[in-house]
Amino acid sequence: MLRLTELRLPLDHPPEALEHAICTRLAIARDALEHFSVYKRGHDARRRSAIVLVYTVDCAVRDEAAVLARYRQAHPRDTHVQIAPDMSWTAPLAHGAELAARPGYRRPIVVGAGPCGFMAALMLARMGLRPLLLERGKAVRERTVDTFALWRRSVLTPESNVQFGEGGAGTFSDGKLYSQVRDPRFLGRKVLEEFVKAGAPEDILTLAHPHIGTFRLVSMVEHIRSEIEAAGGEYRFQSRVEGLLLEPGTRRVQGVRLADGEVVESGHVILAVGHSARDTFAMLNEQGVTMQAKPFSMGVRIEHPQSVIDTAQFGSAAGNSLLGAAEYRLVHHAANGRGVYSFCMCPGGTVVAATSEEGQVVTNGMSQYSRAERNANSGIVVELRPGEDYPDDPLAGVAFQRHWEKQAFVAGGGDYRAPAQRVGDFLAGRPSVSLGDVVPSYRPGVTPTDLSTCLPDFVVEALREALPHFDRKLKGYAMEDAVMTGVETRTSSPLRIPRGETGQSVNTPGLYPAGEGAGYAGGILSAGMDGIRMAEAVARDIAGLPPAP
Ligand code: FAD
Repeated sequence: MLRLTELRLPLDHPPEALEHAICTRLAIARDALEHFSVYKRGHDARRRSAIVLVYTVDCAVRDEAAVLARYRQAHPRDTHVQIAPDMSWTAPLAHGAELAARPGYRRPIVVGAGPCGFMAALMLARMGLRPLLLERGKAVRERTVDTFALWRRSVLTPESNVQFGEGGAGTFSDGKLYSQVRDPRFLGRKVLEEFVKAGAPEDILTLAHPHIGTFRLVSMVEHIRSEIEAAGGEYRFQSRVEGLLLEPGTRRVQGVRLADGEVVESGHVILAVGHSARDTFAMLNEQGVTMQAKPFSMGVRIEHPQSVIDTAQFGSAAGNSLLGAAEYRLVHHAANGRGVYSFCMCPGGTVVAATSEEGQVVTNGMSQYSRAERNANSGIVVELRPGEDYPDDPLAGVAFQRHWEKQAFVAGGGDYRAPAQRVGDFLAGRPSVSLGDVVPSYRPGVTPTDLSTCLPDFVVEALREALPHFDRKLKGYAMEDAVMTGVETRTSSPLRIPRGETGQSVNTPGLYPAGEGAGYAGGILSAGMDGIRMAEAVARDIAGLPPAP
């Protein structure tokens, strides 16, 4: 099988043009092309008047070796035709069930049922190792009710909300499923394949920028749970881990203690608690687990009419179903030395209340698969640095986040409404007293105000500089009535829990820090990939195999 990349065709090309392009690229006759499939499809809209679709295809051709040799001879430096890589995943051990049947076997524990935790549990269960998954929040349907209670009635349930509960932080999200991380083992593909098996739309396998949307994510995580249970794993909800049992002297993990005092023994604990498990971070710090402060970012959510973004990105092709609702990615280096960038952009979506603690306001974004809501939203965030903006201490970033989230709560009116400001007012340095044509989607509602009361000065300064700059790239971006809602603080984990080459904490053997909370992922896909990696690491240790090369 050959993989051809960068096959560029006009947006309105007829279906047979792709086949023709493959044969032309390979200089073969039509009957030498046995079959092909699209591996990825993206688009290049840099020239709005000539938007092109960009394909990566896998194809089987007659006399493959000869075709490839001829191509390489004709194009010695070109890398756009290669042997298609093997993307299959192989479990590190085949005799897990046998190991799990031995007397004294202690099953591995996975803490957290987000994408990292459920992918780790799925792989461990498939290997026959019968993992136990402990999740502080509720099963996803019950969790949905609690999450909506904040959005509709201003009632927060601290243990069951946008951040906590089955499916993890990204359950009520846009469900974007791409990542910039290097992936030589195609673990991202493995995650996507598992998602499709569990009911995600098949196009996530072929679109360059796939997304699932909230509604489908909810049923997908339920399917994954049934799959894990069918393979011998177990889920326990409302089971918050509040302590580690450590062997005196060696600090080797012997199990965990739950909030109700129950002790569950295990020698292998994958800790996939996400970036909002602040009490868990404090517990780990108290128990001496090595942790480090890490940079993260903060800012606001900004909303524009989706039609403004579509037109700015696609010109007259706006609305074309192959392009969908337009996305964007923006970056600016501000004069005060801070990077400003768009974060978690959600086309045709809504801004959501994403706090997990009382008396705080946090924004984020979500959408449905259709991305059909009126507004586009995105985080616009500014880099923060430990040692400069807050002390270089593992928990100082959490304290910093809390401070600004509380300020936002106060600025919003103290009832979970969020502070909001028109872009025109923000740039002019005056508070908003009302909003204009862009209707903010945040629920339970917003309070027009001055966002500079709940953002550090250097963030305000960097945002004021970045918005006009972004407007030059995306016409209309700094429109007077665009709405900014604050504050966006949970962009990534404010700390890292370092691990060694076996995947275990550098000073607490048996503890496998994983996913976004430990600083090893940023987003659903990379969290799922890290879950697979940690399941492999645990399986190898249980079987007495050396760490993966
Ligand atoms: P999490 O998903 O945070 O899961 C951690 C789990 O651990 C939670 O369920 C939590 O309840 C549980 N837990 C925490 N502490 C304990 C404890 N002590 N005991 C037991 N259980 C515990 N990413 C994207 O890639 N695309 C998007 O479109 C996207 N949109 C987002 C929208 C929103 C509203 C939010 C909040 C996030 C979004 N993200 C998105 C980010 C994404 O959700 C995270 O990167 C991802 O979920 C991280 O996965 P994780 O498994 O590492 O952690």
